[in-house]
Amino acid sequence: MEKFKPERKSATVEVVGGNISDQERIINHQEFNFLNQVRLKNEREKTTEELELIREINERLREFINQYGGQYIEVSADNMHFFTWEDIDTETKSEFLSKRPDFTGFEGKFSPDDQSIYIIHEEKTHKLKFASTLVHELIHFMAFNSLSILKKEDKKLTIGDRRLGFAVKKTKGRAYYFNDINEALTVELELEFKKRYFDKISLTAKLEKERQRLVKEFKSDLNVLDNEKSAIDDSTWIEKISDGRYRYMVNVYNEEVNKLRDLIRDIFENNPDEFNSLGEVFNLFTKAYFTGRLLPIAKLIEKTYGKGSFRELGENTKSKDEESLL
Ligand SMILES: [Zn+2]
Repeated sequence: MEKFKPERKSATVEVVGGNISDQERIINHQEFNFLNQVRLKNEREKTTEELELIREINERLREFINQYGGQYIEVSADNMHFFTWEDIDTETKSEFLSKRPDFTGFEGKFSPDDQSIYIIHEEKTHKLKFASTLVHELIHFMAFNSLSILKKEDKKLTIGDRRLGFAVKKTKGRAYYFNDINEALTVELELEFKKRYFDKISLTAKLEKERQRLVKEFKSDLNVLDNEKSAIDDSTWIEKISDGRYRYMVNVYNEEVNKLRDLIRDIFENNPDEFNSLGEVFNLFTKAYFTGRLLPIAKLIEKTYGKGSFRELGENTKSKDEESLL
């Protein structure tokens, strides 16, 4: 199969199918989308604080993404679309809720088609959660993103997602295989980014200090139940809403993250001659996430768990439907 591999000019780094000029057309079209973002209905103005936050995150992401073997691209504030839930008009709200009945007042999404990041949030949303989500979606943006040409009629090309980081989509069907692993990896990278840089970014440094102080206070509060205390970790957002009352939120992908950690530990323990640390196994996953090359991981999984086990892992970690959270 012919392949066209340009420098990264948008989230899309590869197009598969058709001929080289078809692929080039799609790459150029995606670049056009990337550079020509339109302000959307109900989209709010970004605050000066957010513009500074975006600038400071971008400044660190280059080094971070390059270190993992990924291809950095500066995503401008125009590619990020923010919506305050309370300010959205009633009609749009009910239309949105009819499609997403499980909406809990906060959502981040990266759309490779639009070359955009969307964040819908309630006014009360913790700013640290907002900043973390922004980092999370930007990491999705800079993962290996690939499209396939599904159909060509005269000059009209129909395209579909093929790869999003570690997740794989078949040309037929809507589900992303390995979706849970893809999300878990994105969260792990997001946590690593926070650990390395959030104390150096002006807004998050201030908020992170306050968060850590509150976690301490929460854990020593006699009125808080032990099982609540043990639910709090590095990825928890916590706020004090009144005396003795806290509001906190754990990462939605905690279960997927724990499963990935178990898998990595298990691979490590089953291949004592191949790896010196858990980090080495993790890096193999992130390499696939950023470069698109799944083969080394596939081989390792099959070697560890037997023939057909990689495909099985893809099945067991696939998304429920296309509209799954990113
Ligand atoms: Zn995600």
